[in-house]
Amino acid sequence: MTTIRLHNTKTRRKEEFIPLDPKNVRMYVCGPTVYDRAHLGNARPVVVFDVLYRLLRHVYGADHVTYVRNFTDVDDKINARAAATGRDIRAITDETIGWYHADMEALGTLRPDLEPRATEFIAPMVAMIADLIAKGHAYEAEGHVLFAVESYADYGALSGRSIDDMIAGARVEVAPYKRNPMDFVLWKPSDDQTPGWESPWGRGRPGWHIECSAMSYELLGASFDIHGGGNDLQFPHHENEIAQSACAHPEGDFARYWLHNEMLQVEGKKMSKSLGNFFTVRDLLDGHDGQPPVPGEVIRFVMLGTHYRKPMDWTEKKRVEAERTLSKWSSQVMDRDGEERPNAKFLAALADDLNTAGAIAVMREMSKSGDYDGLAHAAKLLGLDLGNFDLVLAGMHNADVSLRQYDLSKFEDQLLELRNAAVHSKDFSKVDTMKRALADAGVEVRMSKSRVELITLKDFDPTKLEGLR
Ligand code: AMP
Ligand code: ZN
Repeated sequence: MTTIRLHNTKTRRKEEFIPLDPKNVRMYVCGPTVYDRAHLGNARPVVVFDVLYRLLRHVYGADHVTYVRNFTDVDDKINARAAATGRDIRAITDETIGWYHADMEALGTLRPDLEPRATEFIAPMVAMIADLIAKGHAYEAEGHVLFAVESYADYGALSGRSIDDMIAGARVEVAPYKRNPMDFVLWKPSDDQTPGWESPWGRGRPGWHIECSAMSYELLGASFDIHGGGNDLQFPHHENEIAQSACAHPEGDFARYWLHNEMLQVEGKKMSKSLGNFFTVRDLLDGHDGQPPVPGEVIRFVMLGTHYRKPMDWTEKKRVEAERTLSKWSSQVMDRDGEERPNAKFLAALADDLNTAGAIAVMREMSKSGDYDGLAHAAKLLGLDLGNFDLVLAGMHNADVSLRQYDLSKFEDQLLELRNAAVHSKDFSKVDTMKRALADAGVEVRMSKSRVELITLKDFDPTKLEGLR
């Protein structure tokens, strides 16, 4: 069996990954707060942990991995969006979840096995908070319930800071009812305009951190294997998750391997609205500000070109290079299903703390040496859909959307029929005439034994197809 090694933030070392139960490998990744389209940075952890999910499924079997990613659908940013637009909260969160699914699917990411919504787990959160109070780790003050950081000796161990360092370095919310400035909210009161649930502490809503502790416990148990997220979540979010879970369930280990991805930048700068370099995944997929659309495979490939623990830079240069590479690979793997055994060197790179950049380097070698079966398999394992990449790309370069979506299937059928007839009659003149006409209209013809594929090129002109009808 392939040995996977992962860098564990908890121990600050690369360690051999040994699951608690190889028949049920369990991973939890912090998901989005759903009130707006995901930006390109938000997609990085989704792609990174999708690769890990695929690797785990490859090694342990698809039925032996459970991947949970939550939706935070109760949050003050959502409330603010509802107030600003006059829309119903549920309408906003449902719509955003729909966008998220579509956008992330376009990047070739698999849906997690479970996608719990916070609002469906309020009762377990209330129970966990009550348990923390009973065990002396939390206290009620002015309708709030707060976690007492001083009650947990290891608070700060993940990010390697002491409580005093945190107070000095953090912009903490000073509230008179807090015993320690670092104490954080488990429950807070809601007014009549704000979503709220009945609780022993009055009508209110949960803090953000308790959500992941309660949902991971309900769905994965007191001990599970991997917990992931962006490194901006290490403190305070993950530190607080650990404190809550360790104190509520001292019988368990909570998460045994912690993985954090570094941030994404654009052309060397932090993505921000004020710098004008902020865009959503959907902006890229559809084309924005006069830019051509970018296929999801290109976004995925560019992201995988940088190791997840390094900052990654999205650049125009990388986009162009990725299109060229994927285009070449696509024609090389044509009609190969990618089902045979994996290339050992490729797999070893991936298993070495998800060295995707190294894995891609092996793919370049395979492309060069003509190992197209190996290339097809590697692409499949990495979640890169090369199947019709050229077709997608060529179509996207047509500025006119209606041309991109032009339906050529009836010409494909027609040409296949002519070809089958010609095989019998040994007279290929009609096939050749049709191929010439198609080429003249800016359509590339690809024929294999069983199928005909027509691809619109940049200079595609459908009026020239009139004569073929
Ligand atoms: P947010 O919407 O800010 O709560 O972020 C949702 C997820 O996106 C979290 O896992 C963050 O770690 C991640 N994230 C946000 N910004 C970036 C970025 N620039 N690069 C990589 N990941 C990011
Ligand atoms: Zn979380």
